[in-house]
Amino acid sequence: MTRIAKAGTFALALAAGAFLIVHPSARSTSRAAEPAGPARPVVARTGVPRLIDLGSTECIPCKLMWPALEAMKTEFAGKLTVDFVDVGKRESLPLARQYGIKLIPTQVFLDADGKELWRHEGYISRYGILDKFGELGYAFAADALKPAFSRLDAKPDERAKDKVCYFCDGDMDARAQVTVKTDKGDVRLCGPHCYFIMYSCLTEDKTDFEKKVSVADWATGKAVAFAEAIYLTGLDEKTGRPWTRAFADRAAAEKERADAGGSIVGWQVLQARELSHRCGFCDRSMHPQDGALVKIDGVHSWGCCSHCAMGVAARTGKDIEVHQPDRLTGQMIVVRTLGGYIQSIEPATAVAWYGKKKTADGKYVSAGCFHQGFFATPENLKKWAELHPTEIGQMITIDQALGDKMKMTLAQIARACKLGECAPK
Ligand SMILES: [Zn+2]
Ligand SMILES: [Zn+2]
Repeated sequence: MTRIAKAGTFALALAAGAFLIVHPSARSTSRAAEPAGPARPVVARTGVPRLIDLGSTECIPCKLMWPALEAMKTEFAGKLTVDFVDVGKRESLPLARQYGIKLIPTQVFLDADGKELWRHEGYISRYGILDKFGELGYAFAADALKPAFSRLDAKPDERAKDKVCYFCDGDMDARAQVTVKTDKGDVRLCGPHCYFIMYSCLTEDKTDFEKKVSVADWATGKAVAFAEAIYLTGLDEKTGRPWTRAFADRAAAEKERADAGGSIVGWQVLQARELSHRCGFCDRSMHPQDGALVKIDGVHSWGCCSHCAMGVAARTGKDIEVHQPDRLTGQMIVVRTLGGYIQSIEPATAVAWYGKKKTADGKYVSAGCFHQGFFATPENLKKWAELHPTEIGQMITIDQALGDKMKMTLAQIARACKLGECAPK
């Protein structure tokens, strides 16, 4: 068996599933075909670089890449040469030997003089290719990835600080407010759900944590110790989203139940239910109605936001299918990944909003899960941004949303969204 025939066999094995068990959070490992040597400084490069994709008409990852490669030939004409080599053809053997490929597809990144700069084995997306050419110093690639829409200065949020929930940035309702005593002062939350999100993010010892917490009595607005309150909880008739109201005494809770329905439960029951749905990426407590459904080998998990949903591929090393409604219209957007890259996006026009905030030293960082989202079209995103004038951030491709997560190490993922790492303020 020739070397190439072996490669083809391996590639078919990949197509049959072997590809899927490569841990994609080690996607950089799957890219580790880079020639050995010290890291090159990034320099601005001129001339027309070349991308050679060595694949076959028989391999599924190869075929998945074709539409993007074909489109790139036209989009970057005069800036990038894209060649596809079918290693199944006899005449391609010398070239395949010359590049010493071990499996297909393999993409070889060459400079204008034909010098190999980098190579990648397995499926790679348009974003992955451009991201790498940008990193290698090619301006056309970095330009192609610039956001088509961004807003980094916005109307300041003029609400008084004590009227804004520490976690979700939502308006506070005095009848539902939860207050947590901390070393740095009181933390105010819009209700028990945001409290449980905070609780699920805590990395410190949680023993007796509820002793630091008080909740407003829905009937009187007066604070009551969290563990001494009783809770009326039910489901929203239309959305199925849980709601919770706290009471200092049972009679008031029963009176409310006569009007609103629901069940009366103690705080432990409430906590068990609130912690039963967790983000598959950051482990944060969430209501499925607020986030994305993530299917892993057909098993349901969740993403607390659209970006966390993509991160489930990085955390689990599995191929995933994400179902996330457009934040403006509710239209469902379905994204499938393969080997840590995008396999398909429906509708194909869908984009992501990367919500940001400006830190005291002027840097832009993630604004946290409540400020992210997917949109079926860039127009929907722009309309949503108009309706939310205090939101800042930029439009990115869903490919990039996944790529950003795939770059994270497992240690970074373990800290993701934990209190202080990604807190909204
Ligand atoms: Zn909140
Ligand atoms: Zn999350």
